[in-house]
Amino acid sequence: MLGYFPTPYEDEIFYSVIARYHVHSGNLNFVDTIRDLYGKTQLKATPDLATNLSAVYENLKVFNYLPLEELLKKHTMYLYYTNFTKSKVKDQSKQIILYESNLSKVYRILGILGNKIKEPNFFRFCNKCLEEDFKNYGENYWHLTHQLPSVFYCHKHPDEILLDSEIWYRRGSRTEFKSASLIGNAVQNTNELELIEKNKSILKRITKESVKLATQSYDWNL
Ligand SMILES: [Zn+2]
Repeated sequence: MLGYFPTPYEDEIFYSVIARYHVHSGNLNFVDTIRDLYGKTQLKATPDLATNLSAVYENLKVFNYLPLEELLKKHTMYLYYTNFTKSKVKDQSKQIILYESNLSKVYRILGILGNKIKEPNFFRFCNKCLEEDFKNYGENYWHLTHQLPSVFYCHKHPDEILLDSEIWYRRGSRTEFKSASLIGNAVQNTNELELIEKNKSILKRITKESVKLATQSYDWNL
């Protein structure tokens, strides 16, 4: 039985909650962390979504944890990917995220595999959020809205350009959950900087709309 599991911070992506659990637990291997949470040793780490979420949730109920629906909608990119999809797609993808482990199936259903939208290469962060989070919580975490595709600014600090950490976002180890304590040296991509200077207001607008898409439920009857 699980003795402890961190509560997600505001705007924290579920991947990051598992990463913090790994650090706090003192587990030396990620296999042990995955076994603690899922009761099995093999699981693909996914930065934006989750699989078998209900299996983890079974272990969390004893902590009077936040509702499963809230975990799904506020701490994964489920809403971002499904807000403009048909209800059938919403239901199918939710079913996989909660009860199955077939990650490629959920990406196929959501059309993520074939699209041309460029994801971040590395986990990203905002310097001001980093400072504030450490001051408020004594640790850092990965913000969901900082990882959204095409988002270059922090929505909480509109003049702060998001920086790349040294942690791979999608191409890193699929069996490890890397915490934001490993941010390393921040890297600013200069091409992106030029682009941002030229199109600042447009990019700030994209940030605002993308954050809305990721955090609000649009009840479209598609
Ligand atoms: Zn910020």
